[in-house]
Amino acid sequence: MFNATAVSTPFDDPLYAGTDFSSLNWFEQQWVAWYVWVGNPIIATGLASFLLHEIVYFGRSVPWIIIDAIPYFRRWKLQPTKVPTPKEQWECTKQVLLSHFTIELPAIWLFHPMAESIGMSTYQVPFPSLKAMAPQIFLFFFYEDLFHYLAHQALHYGPLYRHIHKIHHKYSAPFGLAAEYAHPAEVFILGAGTITGPLLYCYFTRNLHIVTVYIWIVLRLFQAIDAHSGYDFPWSLQHILPFWSGAEHHDFHHMAFTNNFSTSFRWWDRIFGTDDKYRQYRARVQAVKKSMKNASKEDMIKFEQQLQDQIEAEGIQAEKEAEGTAAKTVKVQ
Ligand SMILES: [Zn+2]
Ligand SMILES: [Zn+2]
Repeated sequence: MFNATAVSTPFDDPLYAGTDFSSLNWFEQQWVAWYVWVGNPIIATGLASFLLHEIVYFGRSVPWIIIDAIPYFRRWKLQPTKVPTPKEQWECTKQVLLSHFTIELPAIWLFHPMAESIGMSTYQVPFPSLKAMAPQIFLFFFYEDLFHYLAHQALHYGPLYRHIHKIHHKYSAPFGLAAEYAHPAEVFILGAGTITGPLLYCYFTRNLHIVTVYIWIVLRLFQAIDAHSGYDFPWSLQHILPFWSGAEHHDFHHMAFTNNFSTSFRWWDRIFGTDDKYRQYRARVQAVKKSMKNASKEDMIKFEQQLQDQIEAEGIQAEKEAEGTAAKTVKVQ
């Protein structure tokens, strides 16, 4: 029997009463269709947020998996002898999925009520203009980077490192999928840097649409996955924007266990000197490259490998010190 009260089009939906549909662009129309189709804004926002994360996280990781499988790209790999095996990548994927489904999924249904309670637009259309979104997104980048710079250093403090951050440091040569390979508490602590920026901004300004938050999260996921990719191409963003961190910056953090605590930008590490070892390393590589101009490619690779082995050995020692398990007689240079 036909149910006369069923909501079948956006025009009938109470969420969109009084909306001028003729002025909406294609994305906005799809947005409306999603909220109408799901029929419950809490579920619609929660599901969209979860799916967005899964699709972007694994979608962005796939090109890196392919690149790792093609030896041609090894010339741009920062630690060329350490290519992740398919088994390692699968183990990592399982771990990341487990935390997405056991921690993120149960909590994500709180997102819509929380967003609404501070006045964030969710199902509403039209979207804000790009001009309105861009400065908000830059602010979230700036805030997250500073938050991460401080919280990440705290996670290197003995007890916090031992119980939480050690898991993320399993890979001294990271790969894209390993971006979120971390203890649930770390996902929560560092994830706060991504999400509290928009929440605080909205709390104080009452002027934020969830679509802006989604664009920010997509960009942040790209940043995190690319920073863990292990590759530095001549066309990588840090060669265009010198203050952008990129893989070259974060790969060193995993290799050396120290330095380079920020996510997106290099400035805090530079200002507070937590990039001293990294800069020494870059300077040594550059100096030797200059002095060994006539050396064979094999010799250069050998030299870089020796230097990387040395830095990694120092990093292992520094890790033991942070954990409090280093032998007392051993001193790090
Ligand atoms: Zn770390
Ligand atoms: Zn990392």
